[in-house]
Amino acid sequence: MITAKFGGTAITPENLVYLKKILTPSHNCVVVSAIGKTHPNDVKTTDLLKRYYADSNEKIWQTVCNRYKKLALRNCINVDAEKLLYDAKNRACNFGLDYCMSLGEELSAKLVASYLNATYVEAQNALYFDNGGLNFPKTICGIESAFDGVKLGVIGGFYGGRDNNRKTFSRGGSDVTGSLCAVALKSSLYENWTDANGVCQANPTEILSAKTIPYLSYAQMNFLAQNGATVLHPDAVKPLQTYGVPLRIANFYNPNAPSTMVSNAVNNQKLLCVTQKKHLDVFTTTVLHNLTGSQIAEALGKLYFQLDNSRQNLTPCCSPSTVFGVKISPNVVKIVSQTQILQTVFTAFYDVSR
Ligand code: ASP
Repeated sequence: MITAKFGGTAITPENLVYLKKILTPSHNCVVVSAIGKTHPNDVKTTDLLKRYYADSNEKIWQTVCNRYKKLALRNCINVDAEKLLYDAKNRACNFGLDYCMSLGEELSAKLVASYLNATYVEAQNALYFDNGGLNFPKTICGIESAFDGVKLGVIGGFYGGRDNNRKTFSRGGSDVTGSLCAVALKSSLYENWTDANGVCQANPTEILSAKTIPYLSYAQMNFLAQNGATVLHPDAVKPLQTYGVPLRIANFYNPNAPSTMVSNAVNNQKLLCVTQKKHLDVFTTTVLHNLTGSQIAEALGKLYFQLDNSRQNLTPCCSPSTVFGVKISPNVVKIVSQTQILQTVFTAFYDVSR
């Protein structure tokens, strides 16, 4: 059986229809995010809920309501959305910020369950946090029993229960819920449906020629997620790796487009991926590759020349031991834009990898 997670862009009035095209009788678990952006300038529902918690601004709540009402209306979902939203509002500000932020996922899951004629599974009663963070054994048992006897269950990502209340993962945490469900339900595959063609060699919106990486090992995927590949939450890989559940990251707009499979198979391609991550105002550019020492030296030589910068800014490092990464940081930020750095690094490494 398969666990499928759909990100916020899929859970929009216009895109929900893709779920029905993708799901098969082999799927028994669907994990959903809160409604995402329809337009690039939209504010994510989770951020609206965060703001609503801070100032109880009625206009903000109405924006949230309008999104869910539109989701129901446009997709002919047979539920009383007004009632669901009224009930959610009554709980929104009484149990803390995490609870309020979890409502986006709860509402998505309730509407999607009805849309798919599936069973709604309440995440608060399936995933468990305690003071030390996620309680893994309790969560695995919790998910197993919540899905017991359920043909197709829909669960909200991003949160679980803690002391009769709710606790969220860090942002983007629905990916982690998906991993935990896939492990607990012993899925043969965890599909993570997003709006990009899997993991690309670099951010495809910045490097138009970046291609999809067809497969990666768990360690390679973990390394990329830890170093800024935003396509997957950094905590999503470990449970899958431990229990050997393969992951496929694919584009819901086009399920037949190239996608990335993550399993034990190590990808030995010379240039795999260039990522960027901001930490404490410093951008780090990371290259994951399988180049030889002399090829790295050649690429770095090109970079020193093109970025016209001091050598201290380019620090080769090894991490983790199974893969090799070159980190380039930090002051280059001041002389060129991040996109330019990405393009320069990508080109330098791409050239030597051919
Ligand atoms: N809705 C949450 C966020 O915006 C969690 C998620 O989408 O995974 O971060």
